[in-house]
Amino acid sequence: MTLRIKRILGWLWRSFSRNVNRKVILIYHAVGSGPASLHSENFKYQMDWLAGNATVETLENLVSRPDLPGLRVALTFDDGYHSVYSVVSPVLEKLGFPATVYVNTGMIGEDAHRASNVDLGHYPQEEFLVWKELAELGKGSWTIGSHGVDHVDLTKLTEEDVTRQLQDSRAEIETRLGKECRNFCYTWGNNNRKVRDLVNEAGYLTAVAAIHGSLRTTTDRMALERIDVRRDYCLNDFIATIKGDWDYLAVIQRLRRIGQK
Ligand SMILES: [Zn+2]
Repeated sequence: MTLRIKRILGWLWRSFSRNVNRKVILIYHAVGSGPASLHSENFKYQMDWLAGNATVETLENLVSRPDLPGLRVALTFDDGYHSVYSVVSPVLEKLGFPATVYVNTGMIGEDAHRASNVDLGHYPQEEFLVWKELAELGKGSWTIGSHGVDHVDLTKLTEEDVTRQLQDSRAEIETRLGKECRNFCYTWGNNNRKVRDLVNEAGYLTAVAAIHGSLRTTTDRMALERIDVRRDYCLNDFIATIKGDWDYLAVIQRLRRIGQK
């Protein structure tokens, strides 16, 4: 869908969608100057807007208290790109914002940054974090979550392989960082009832998906909806998605998923 159509639909939708007590989880990937990454200047504008207009809190706090008033936002970064450490973290630190990064433990290097691979669904020409950077982030206001061992669609794996992805990644994060890993992120947001049950059984408290939407008191904490911040969004688009003007995207996503089944 083109940006122009998104904006027109947003303008139509906003008349009945606005809710001043929204709780939203934002999805980011790479931020910086990579060919698919969100430009760092745009990211800074977005964080400055949040500083003046919303409360940014940890994902666990947001999920545990969906009844709190006001616009409340949690920031999440998928895949574990190095730009989380080099570009994002300094910006968030200045503003005192916490965030969550979801890593594939199989892509985190000891000392050398591993290169991304578009064939595995990564962003092009990026590098991944290394363990000592993750340890540093974890000591600050970052939550380190699991994105599995590998960047694979869990709905396509056997139960045994799903469990291995869930348990091995969690165990490695906990051993390496000396901290409990309680939050999971599905690759491409793909999940089904079996996978959600296995994530729950593996001991995770939350799991994030990629269906557009805000948190409600009825939200399944094993399939949390999130808002994807695309690199072509201008600041007004960003504000519109946060305020709910573009929530029609959820309807379109669900229809598309039904169409694919
Ligand atoms: Zn991913």
